[in-house]
Amino acid sequence: MAGYAAWLKERAAAGNLRCLRPVARIGPGRLRLGSGPELLDFSSNDYLGLSRDPELIAAARQGLEMYGAGSGAARLMSGDLELFHELEAAVAGLKRQPAALVFGSGFAANTGIIPALVGRNDTVIVDRLCHASIYDGCRLSGATLIRCRHNDMGHLEECLARVRGRGLLVVESVYSMDGDLAPLREIVALKEAAGAMLMVDEAHATGVFGKNGAGAIAAAGLTDRVEVAMGTFGKALGSYGAYVAADAGIITLLLNRARSFIYSTALPPAVVAANLAAIRLMGKRPGMGGELLARARFFKEELIRQGIAGEPGPSQIVPLLIGDSAAAMSLVEQCLDGGLFLTAARPPTVEPGRARLRLSVTLDHAAEDLSRAAEVIAAAAAGLGLRPEMF
Ligand SMILES: *Cc1c(COP(=O)(O)O)cnc(C)c1O
Repeated sequence: MAGYAAWLKERAAAGNLRCLRPVARIGPGRLRLGSGPELLDFSSNDYLGLSRDPELIAAARQGLEMYGAGSGAARLMSGDLELFHELEAAVAGLKRQPAALVFGSGFAANTGIIPALVGRNDTVIVDRLCHASIYDGCRLSGATLIRCRHNDMGHLEECLARVRGRGLLVVESVYSMDGDLAPLREIVALKEAAGAMLMVDEAHATGVFGKNGAGAIAAAGLTDRVEVAMGTFGKALGSYGAYVAADAGIITLLLNRARSFIYSTALPPAVVAANLAAIRLMGKRPGMGGELLARARFFKEELIRQGIAGEPGPSQIVPLLIGDSAAAMSLVEQCLDGGLFLTAARPPTVEPGRARLRLSVTLDHAAEDLSRAAEVIAAAAAGLGLRPEMF
């Protein structure tokens, strides 16, 4: 029998088998599973609620009608619509970097950028909690991989000392599963002292932190000290795709060497137009990220008020540590009965024994939604004899 059957059985037995659940979107932050009741969605990365924004929808419709449903080819063939260049200029402006390049997705960007920057004779240092796409990019590059303990500056210094000037360091500015921030100032100082190059993934920071949603690099005032700033359009910016902002030399390198850019069809025009509208909207409504963080803060205070242990973290991502995968799944099911749609992050997405609920607050959540959710979660956990810990 093929090895995969045993693999599936093992996964299921450990409570870690994933499955799909079709949803119907029925309003801002609300969905339905099949013919079930209305649920509040706490698992979306549409942090600013932009996926349904009339300006994005109108821009996408116009892009679709002007240019058609698809781009027809890769950028380096005939798929290079002028719209891409407009979007890249907007990204470079937002990130205050000389140039930018759009990729099909964040996953494609990370698996394309890293092998374009480093190869067999190089070393790449990655924070242990980095996204799967960063690890896959490292593997594809053939570079020696060093995994650095999460946000541990002492360990990072040791790792950098082993590399001696030939290294690439990759971190995220907001970590997707823990919701904590990288200490970017310290990281930048250490990589500069070591002569290494820094790439920062801003997937969960773009649109949330920094002026006009420019990200956590900008918020820390480090724009001209980070060589490669990557981020996505699929989360706070409400659509799909990814960008990288860097100096013109790096952008030229990427469009000559990043295979996921070269050998892949350009994004559909509707998506590119929506992304451009999202960046413009952030300039027009500069308070969105701050408002989101204030709501997230309110939600964490409500959880504490309901007796949930732990410390409120700094971002819109709220992790509640459960530990055991099956217990986390039971809590998810209980919350579902209470009208909340949320997801558990389980191994291998997170470390073994650290299964958690990973909640995200969005601008589609009103204060009363957040209060009700905190109440439902606390009651469900108490009913199951669990003591979730916020961190
Ligand atoms: C979501 C995510 C990606 C992948 O982006 P997609 O556009 O969804 O493919 C990359 N890096 C991080 C940190 C992410 O959270």
